[in-house]
Amino acid sequence: MDNSRYYDNPFNDCLDNSTLCRPLVNEDTKQVNDDFKETLRTHTKSLVDQLMVEQKNVWTRKDDYSMYTGSAGIAYMLYHYGKCVNEPSYIDKAAELLKVCISKFRGRREITFLTGIAGPLALNAVILHTQGNVEESRNMISKLKSFSPYILEDVTLPDELLYGRAGYLFSLLFLNSNISPPPVEGELIKQVIAVIIHSGHTYSTSTTYKTPIMYAWHDSEYLGAAHGLAGILYLLLQARQYLTSSQLELEIKPALQFLQSLQYPSWNFPSSIGSRTDKLVHWCHGAPGMSMLFCLAYEIYQDDQYLNTALQCGEVVYSRGLLKKGCGICHGVAGNAYTFLSLFQQTKDVKHLDRACKFAFWCMDYGKHQMKLADRPFSLFEGIAGTIYFLIDMQNPLSAKFPGYTV
Ligand SMILES: [Zn+2]
Repeated sequence: MDNSRYYDNPFNDCLDNSTLCRPLVNEDTKQVNDDFKETLRTHTKSLVDQLMVEQKNVWTRKDDYSMYTGSAGIAYMLYHYGKCVNEPSYIDKAAELLKVCISKFRGRREITFLTGIAGPLALNAVILHTQGNVEESRNMISKLKSFSPYILEDVTLPDELLYGRAGYLFSLLFLNSNISPPPVEGELIKQVIAVIIHSGHTYSTSTTYKTPIMYAWHDSEYLGAAHGLAGILYLLLQARQYLTSSQLELEIKPALQFLQSLQYPSWNFPSSIGSRTDKLVHWCHGAPGMSMLFCLAYEIYQDDQYLNTALQCGEVVYSRGLLKKGCGICHGVAGNAYTFLSLFQQTKDVKHLDRACKFAFWCMDYGKHQMKLADRPFSLFEGIAGTIYFLIDMQNPLSAKFPGYTV
């Protein structure tokens, strides 16, 4: 086990009554306590101001329009913040940024929510719809749907979340859960699911693994949320209303059990098949993304073994999750804290909410707990916009959703 990547958790085993040790939740109401909520609000606002006023010229100059590391991700955070503080000007600003992003994508393969045109299209469709601009919203949705023949027919397209079909599936589910009546036909969603499962079958038959579906991306058999099996299964399970019982029982369930069989004795998960180094505790690779998957698997199958795996991942994240890489959401402390939010949502046990608060407290010292600056220090997945997104979610933890991953 590599312990050079994280700080020891200072919130553990507290004996005195310092800020680090005090509970930050109210055990009776099962909510973040009022003082800490106020602290969250103040810090969130000051980080938003920093990003929008002091640093604006820096991030707008970058030639990246994705949700993951570009200006669409900043738009997503502004939309989230505008809804939280009920301030339409942030949502208008988000729409303005998204419009530019949409005009910049050219590649036929850039079709996912996080790294392609689908994210800006889907989010802008939702914003336009809530603003009453139904026709423009429909145009965005039609454009997004127009990529479907390529998703369904191009066998060279990957299936993982960041660049593949699961990332397109997220966009369709995102539209249907944010616009009423749902604008994407169930038939299309079922077709995308069928292709993802078929592709998993094809790959799996080329291996000896005990799973009916398996995937590879760039010749590695990744397992985590961003590029691997866990991310694909998480998207499929979130689309459960479109799945057949045979897909749920005969494809997805054995794949979940296969994943469980690969868990390290430390309770963390390998980033790919064959990896034995037990290094990464990130949303993208390792226990955090797994915990979210197994929470959802528990909700659907009601099998305690899944909850047990999710809880074990929670322990890994609490002890090894204060990463030196910083406070982003892809491979940072804020992303890791979503582990506790999903465990709290599933179990209603305030222990997990308190842990999420402690990680938020850590993130609010933004920049202090970080060994090196991320490549995209303002972005949603590697930088400050993601930290802000998480601090907004902390103000309403039962509704928190990992952006681009939880529908
Ligand atoms: Zn990452």
